[in-house]
Amino acid sequence: MGRLDTEAMTGLVPDFLAVIHPAISHPSAQVEGFIGGLLKCQCDKSPVVVSVGSQASHNHLCGCSLCWKPDGALFSQVAVVPRDAVHVTENGDKLGLVDPSAVIQRYACRDCGVHLVGRIEASSHPFYGLDFIHTELSTDVGWEPPKFAAFVSSIIEAGFPAAEMPNMRRHLRSLGLEPYDCLSPELMDAISSHIVLQKQSRPRQRVEVAAE
Ligand SMILES: [Zn+2]
Ligand SMILES: [Zn+2]
Repeated sequence: MGRLDTEAMTGLVPDFLAVIHPAISHPSAQVEGFIGGLLKCQCDKSPVVVSVGSQASHNHLCGCSLCWKPDGALFSQVAVVPRDAVHVTENGDKLGLVDPSAVIQRYACRDCGVHLVGRIEASSHPFYGLDFIHTELSTDVGWEPPKFAAFVSSIIEAGFPAAEMPNMRRHLRSLGLEPYDCLSPELMDAISSHIVLQKQSRPRQRVEVAAE
């Protein structure tokens, strides 16, 4: 994860805009009919380029410790797109798997550390068929902006003071980003519905699913 500005977090009043995510002060403006664009890592020379042929959905801030964050940010900004729409087009040889044991297989540039795409290989996972991307890596205009904040309490693990959490949640709400300590109700319902369907089709098998 990115370097944290601990001074910004330990002051009497944390600089919320500075530590939440840099894109929050200028969120992307969603464009009707937007069909995707190019994601680039942060290497000046020979960046990894990923072509995404789809608008993103469920874009949100994520406070978990696994998603890639820009330097100084407590949250990542992460969305999903159909995996068929994702193609590595340049310098794919620089991509490496961050943690082979993670449910989401996150591929990062070995030189700059930026995560380009997260893929779920387990076909039983509720989000199988979707890839996770960070739309801020694109200069194309029209991506869906973040709609909520997930795994908010996890920012304490990154060093954010627990006593400031009510202020953090208030601040996220004021930005129109409802804070949740797991995923949004819509996505949690999708996960539970998927588990019910799996239990119905395979009644004797235990189904265990972790979102991250
Ligand atoms: Zn790079
Ligand atoms: Zn996350």
